[in-house]
Amino acid sequence: MTVTALPSQVPVVVVGAGYAGLSAALTLHDAGVPALVLEAADRVGGRILSQSTSSGVVVDHGGQWVGPTQRHLLGWAERFGCATFPTWDTGAHLELWHDGALRRYTGEGPDGAPGLAEYVAATARLDELARRVDTSDPGSCPDAAAWDAETVESYLSREVACPDARRRLALAVQGVWAVEPREISLLHLLFYTASAGGFDQLMQTRNAAQDARFVAGAQAPALAAARRLGDAVVLGTPVESVDQGGDGVLVHTARGTVRAGRVVVATPPPATAGIRFRPGLPAARARWVQRSVMGDVAKVHVVYAEPFWRNEGLSGIASLYGEDAVGVVFDNSPPDPGPGVLVGFVYGDRLRVWSTLDGPARRAAVLATLTRLFGPRAGEPVEYLEKIWPEDPWAQGGYAANPTPGAWVAHGSSGWRRPCGRIHWAGTETADGWNGYIDGAISSGVRAAGEILAAERIAVTGEGGSHRS
Ligand SMILES: Cc1cc2nc3c(=O)[nH]c(=O)nc-3n(C[C@H](O)[C@H](O)[C@H](O)COP(=O)(O)OP(=O)(O)OC[C@H]3O[C@@H](n4cnc5c(N)ncnc54)[C@H](O)[C@@H]3O)c2cc1C
Repeated sequence: MTVTALPSQVPVVVVGAGYAGLSAALTLHDAGVPALVLEAADRVGGRILSQSTSSGVVVDHGGQWVGPTQRHLLGWAERFGCATFPTWDTGAHLELWHDGALRRYTGEGPDGAPGLAEYVAATARLDELARRVDTSDPGSCPDAAAWDAETVESYLSREVACPDARRRLALAVQGVWAVEPREISLLHLLFYTASAGGFDQLMQTRNAAQDARFVAGAQAPALAAARRLGDAVVLGTPVESVDQGGDGVLVHTARGTVRAGRVVVATPPPATAGIRFRPGLPAARARWVQRSVMGDVAKVHVVYAEPFWRNEGLSGIASLYGEDAVGVVFDNSPPDPGPGVLVGFVYGDRLRVWSTLDGPARRAAVLATLTRLFGPRAGEPVEYLEKIWPEDPWAQGGYAANPTPGAWVAHGSSGWRRPCGRIHWAGTETADGWNGYIDGAISSGVRAAGEILAAERIAVTGEGGSHRS
């Protein structure tokens, strides 16, 4: 809700009402500790934004999928009664190659698909390396220094001889991290893979990260959590600065100052960098935040009268290895019969080119690609919607922030998420399970709230119950 006056004093302030901040506040609330959530935007959900369109479909401009091992998000879905449904993957998938070859396939990939066997071998090797990473302190494993000093690009150039396998791996990196392989370190890729439980968990649809969607949109659990917190969630209130003293913090906003015992900062790294901390943050934390760079991603939804591609035996899933703006396409239609929806992901270098075009040119580029894939009907949508995440004032990119090469080893151990006195850190970027995902955001909020309960010696006795020891 939006209030005119802020309370002058609360036990805990949470900065940010994305899944991480809501999770921290809800965990405290369940333990009987009131927390005031200050949110900059005029809505909750952060990088999750569901919209009901004029065609009557719900589109998720940000995060949308949930997988079977994402127990924190599934727990919220159950707690708040938010139904999910399987991602549509029935029918033949498509691959469009840089040389114009369009291949139709079912299963792992087309027969004799270029580079597929070498791709599978390379991902198995990456899984093997990922198992050596300690997800609670990635910079500490024996090979961390070498892996963090190397980009994924240089690793792939050295280890994967087949150029088509490298093209597949490059698209995988774009698809999962929304960056180019030259922009992240091998260590970050291995950590992230380990935090999800393996490369297939990141890449696959069925029984993996892309398994299911929310009937009412992925924002529904966040909206339900915010309703549970009621007046404790205050919108339209960016936190400008945080002063820390021996016995508490002062959280400053244009609406006034709130005194609190502790604060949870649950904002993406670029937004954290925009908050002034007095005294300044320890060097490792300051550098970690500065060197955590958001990925570049846009999602484009194209709505049709019906999912016409299904009649032609196509799943709507396509991977594009050439110069098209879109890298991957999925069928994002609602669960019930009615309009058909294709979603296209534009990321990395593709986004950097495509986002410089004006609106009509961006639309034309996407529709031209969909027409190459699915035929002339793809050029006649009833609705076209796009969200370019680097232009979002608070997220400033997506899906998540990636530490630049060298940052894990130089600053990770103490800069990643260690509390700075009375300041605690949440946000998907601080998660050791499903880092970068909604699930990681929720678990990070639980962890940050747990730090506060432990520091204040509050034992949790069940929902709403607690006692001081
Ligand atoms: C296009 C896209 C697709 C994605 N797909 C998926 C997916 O399918 N599945 C999945 O699990 N994840 C997906 N993700 C990732 C997922 O959205 C994020 O991991 C998750 O939402 C991060 O939650 P968070 O709470 O850590 O951060 P955020 O959601 O960014 O929340 C931070 C909040 O802090 C607020 N804020 C910022 N600065 C201030 C300030 N100074 N004062 C007060 N408030 C402030 C922001 O407005 C925001 O509400 C996707 C992300 C994007 C962008």
